[in-house]
Amino acid sequence: MADILQFRKRPPGEKARHKTLCREGFHKWVIWQKKQFDVKAGKLVTVHRCARCEATRVETH
Ligand SMILES: [Zn+2]
Repeated sequence: MADILQFRKRPPGEKARHKTLCREGFHKWVIWQKKQFDVKAGKLVTVHRCARCEATRVETH
């Protein structure tokens, strides 16, 4: 039951904490463009974008 209690009790300043996570490199990655062809890399890549700060990350296959 401890898990449920923690989930319901939203700590104040949650947004600020998320920003801090982004600044420390812990982004919330979501797939933005799947299997794009990257000319520079010469292969298919998946582009991830952070839902919070819009940073991007490219994953090669
Ligand atoms: Zn971020």
